Amino acid sequence: ESVVNRIAAGEVIQRPVSAVKELVENSLDASSTSISVLVKDGGLKLIQVSDDGHGIRYEDLPILCERHTTSKLSKYEDLQSIKSMGFRGEALASMTYVGHVTVTTITRGQLHGYRVSYRDGVMENEPKACAAVKGTQILIENLFYNMVARRKTLQNSADDYTKIVDLLSRFAIHHIDVSFSCRKHGATRADVHSVATPSRLNAIRSVYGLSVAQNLIKIEASDNDPSSSVFEMDGFISNSNYVAKKTTMVLFINDRLVECTALKRALEVVYVATLPKASKPFIYMSITLPPEHVDVNVHPTKREVSLLNQEVIVEKIQSVVESVLRNSNE
Ligand code: ADP
Ligand code: MG
Repeated sequence: ESVVNRIAAGEVIQRPVSAVKELVENSLDASSTSISVLVKDGGLKLIQVSDDGHGIRYEDLPILCERHTTSKLSKYEDLQSIKSMGFRGEALASMTYVGHVTVTTITRGQLHGYRVSYRDGVMENEPKACAAVKGTQILIENLFYNMVARRKTLQNSADDYTKIVDLLSRFAIHHIDVSFSCRKHGATRADVHSVATPSRLNAIRSVYGLSVAQNLIKIEASDNDPSSSVFEMDGFISNSNYVAKKTTMVLFINDRLVECTALKRALEVVYVATLPKASKPFIYMSITLPPEHVDVNVHPTKREVSLLNQEVIVEKIQSVVESVLRNSNE
């Protein structure tokens, strides 16, 4: 049984960056205003995510890492929207089958926190009282220690740390009311260091640099026709002065970081046609639509989504982007 669990867990947590994404999303779900990530050995030795969120109650600790245990179900009306938000109560459980997980947490108004370690879905010991200031710290050590081939592949592949920095950069420019930091173990400087700000452009500047931020155009689009599509979109797209080797598309749908290849391709087409010299754009887009219109593919790690009325939505966004680019180019 434990082998089966491990294989399933290795599907949910495919690389260190997938663990970081799940942990940071949990911190965001816990209403954190500050999230910091520490990484050692591309995440294979250690991943630590610390937040200042609402913490985990003592009585929830024993079942925290059981599969399909989630505190988030009651908030959502129907299965469809649970599915679309990816709330499955599977992430932490999975991590305990492929790494050593230690949770330190304190809930509001408590004098001390608790620390407890998990393996293979269960607590290794009773939670121990410990000093803690605020929120939750989750430590994953020795990720894939029991998956020799996976560890080898990851050790030989390019450092996962780059992917983790990229992930945190994306979160930081969307959740601008949250401070993010991401640091390599032993380094004195953080590679992502963004302070909460009311201005999206400020956030983009602090994460991606002035050369990106100064070449952006604001865009907005919406539709409210139930017979064709219902959505709201706002974002920033690069202008003719932004020249890069590859497209950066940061897409949030209903506040979840996702990918939508159809939309990305459609926008690349517009850039090639209107700004051939700046045809690899930087795009940040936040789309809001009814949760039941979003379909996340069955596999929990697949960030690729498809949308109800996707063609209509993609075409509308495409035409807004096109007219904005044409106007800016005149
Ligand atoms: P899900 O996010 O799908 O509910 P997870 O396995 O990611 O499942 O997490 C399980 C549960 O652990 C969450 O429902 C939440 O109650 C709790 N939890 C995990 N991380 C945190 C955190 N940083 N702060 C507060 N609660 C957390
Ligand atoms: Mg989660």
